[in-house]
Amino acid sequence: MKVVCTDAETQSHHAPAEEFGREGLVAYPEGPRRYDVIRGALQSVGSTDFVAVTNHDDGQLCAVHDADYVAFLQGAYTSWIAAGGVGDLAASVFSGADGRAPANTAAATGFYGFDTTPLTAGTWAATRAAADAALTAADQVAAGDSAYALCRPPGHHASRNRFGGYCYLNHAALAAQSLSATGTVAIVDVDYHHGNGTQQIFYERDDVFFVSLHADPEWEYPLFWGRVDETGARDGVGFTHNVPLPAGIDDASYLAQLASALQRVRAFNPRYLVVSAGFDIWRHDPLGTFALSADGIARVGVSLADLALPTVIVQEGGYDVDTLGDLVLAFLQPFS
Ligand SMILES: [Zn+2]
Repeated sequence: MKVVCTDAETQSHHAPAEEFGREGLVAYPEGPRRYDVIRGALQSVGSTDFVAVTNHDDGQLCAVHDADYVAFLQGAYTSWIAAGGVGDLAASVFSGADGRAPANTAAATGFYGFDTTPLTAGTWAATRAAADAALTAADQVAAGDSAYALCRPPGHHASRNRFGGYCYLNHAALAAQSLSATGTVAIVDVDYHHGNGTQQIFYERDDVFFVSLHADPEWEYPLFWGRVDETGARDGVGFTHNVPLPAGIDDASYLAQLASALQRVRAFNPRYLVVSAGFDIWRHDPLGTFALSADGIARVGVSLADLALPTVIVQEGGYDVDTLGDLVLAFLQPFS
């Protein structure tokens, strides 16, 4: 298996300071050290087959995201500072599902964002570099390998035209879109949170099958998407499959639900697999409520590897930073 890492320096400059958590203002959980520990773990395994990132043009971004959204992400922070803004750029007033983008950058942030996820000086470069990493991994998989993309920030909450949930460009969707040029794709999202952005991007497609196992959005972020009855629209009816799960779910119950979902993937018979790999399903994750053990997470990897498909694994969440590197290694092991 190949390993593609986004640029260390670039991702280090995407470092929001804080967010509103369950107990008020808290340190931002999605920080640069997440990358450092995963990369360090990968480097500690002498046999890791690192592949250099190659550049991909903006046209590939716009196959997944609206051009005006990409332009906003790219220029918003600079415009905000030029207009006298101070610090990170985050919205507190949101458009909801309609309206139109105001010319004022601070106001437009509440149009293109669906929560208080901030834009910082380094955000665009970090997610743009992560997009290149995911697309490089997809290139490897199109050539017959499997590949892991160490992307940071994560991406699966970002939709065609909205950012949020620490996500800006949807790196897994970019990989899937790239692969869909040469065959059908199944995306399996095992992050603790529903992959609402990925679902929206492919919701009307019958060539990309989206499966997500996640905490029940009745009570967990992202709250507004991820119910069982969201199954696709138009040509995509039946090509989205959501599995909301209860707090406290253990290894055996989770793996049984995964096995059932993967039967649907087998029935779809895709040419490629894209995995949105989030490690916030880990029992000690500060943002999670599941009870999966390290062995359980390793067995999630085994279940996915048993599909025996050319696979892109894209890094999503996982916030127990001290354990994150070991969890990633255990998960990837059956793919090597
Ligand atoms: Zn998550």
